[in-house]
Amino acid sequence: MGSHVSHLEAAIDGTRLPARTLSTTHRGRPLWVRYDLESVGRAVSREDLANRPSTLWRYRELLPVEHDENIVSLGEGCTPLVPCPRLGAALGVENLWIKDESQLPTGSFKSRGLAMAVSMAKELGVKRLAIPTAGNAGGALAAYGARAGLETFVFLPADTPLVNRREAALFGARAFLVDGLITDCGAIVREGADRMGWFDVSTLKEPYRIEGKKTMGLELAEDFEWSLPEWVLYPTGGGTGLIGMWKAFAELGRLGWLESDALPRMVSCQSDGCAPIVRAFEAGERFAEEFEDPATLASGLRVPKAVGDFMILDAVRSSGGCARAAAEGRIPDAMARAAALEGISLCPEAAACLVVLEDLATEGSISRTDRVVVFNTGAAQKYVEVLPDDPPVVPRLASGQVDFDRLPEGS
Ligand SMILES: *Cc1c(COP(=O)(O)O)cnc(C)c1O
Repeated sequence: MGSHVSHLEAAIDGTRLPARTLSTTHRGRPLWVRYDLESVGRAVSREDLANRPSTLWRYRELLPVEHDENIVSLGEGCTPLVPCPRLGAALGVENLWIKDESQLPTGSFKSRGLAMAVSMAKELGVKRLAIPTAGNAGGALAAYGARAGLETFVFLPADTPLVNRREAALFGARAFLVDGLITDCGAIVREGADRMGWFDVSTLKEPYRIEGKKTMGLELAEDFEWSLPEWVLYPTGGGTGLIGMWKAFAELGRLGWLESDALPRMVSCQSDGCAPIVRAFEAGERFAEEFEDPATLASGLRVPKAVGDFMILDAVRSSGGCARAAAEGRIPDAMARAAALEGISLCPEAAACLVVLEDLATEGSISRTDRVVVFNTGAAQKYVEVLPDDPPVVPRLASGQVDFDRLPEGS
């Protein structure tokens, strides 16, 4: 069916680059995919979407793939928007929803971005892909690479959560543990790219993962019947999702599909164990300094330096939102609260958003009746080592002689 992509554009200085080349960055900074939105508007209306399948490919005209046969899919997208009244009441807001991305292939929203990047790699004739990853992106690349029959190389910090290490290998990637941070993994991919013939799918080093993540914003608009909520809280590592959603809202605005000009205030949430974006926001800077000695249970947030820092900060500021850090020590409790109060399998990254939400509601920045959406970017089950188990959560029973009046307490 052809794509409506008009060109690529350098985010740092607006330089126009041709579409459909294996462009990665410009002056070391990310590229935007730009569309001919008038032709998109002629090709599809928001009403047309209603009858399409429940995957992110329903937004086909706003996505970069040219030929349908290059789409690599595991059925990703269209995640539930779950109302959370009990959790909201506990945190101080009446209208809270969790957009539950934990139900996507490989248990995290990274599948949106990697579905797109791998599809484009296939379309552009790439055979080998490589990624440095804090965890979930490696699993998603490995899975989509397997689906496409492409070779994948995954570089993870040695202390990446166990499930992430295993899944990358399970899905057939050549996975390697690196003594160091994600930035050290990134250096290996950069160094080997030419020699190994890798397409570098690091966060924001190619333009297509943003387009996949953009579908979170498109879906949100559809979920809310084109009348977006007042607040979106998003756990920010490299920032692809926040940048992508903000791009989605801009494109929907240009298409005239939104009911109102008022866009959500975007809150970039980090942990105080790794908060480069928050520091830059507070200092009034457009670029973020590298965060020294980053440490957080929320491994997806352990990104000390983001190449798209200015894109995150521009989006947050133009939305009238903010960047805030959660106290690291409160993350496990927030995770447990969401799970116990609402049955949601919440990752520690999203738990950081709940801590920030509670703080913003307590200080009155978010008012009680505002509509608030928190993105749950991954499943709790991927973080077994974060789940407390001392004393053991699940006590033992001797078989055959249970005293039901004295059932042992878990933790
Ligand atoms: C990667 C990741 C994040 C951070 O996402 P960005 O779009 O890179 O900011 C948040 N949560 C989880 C679970 C992740 O895997």
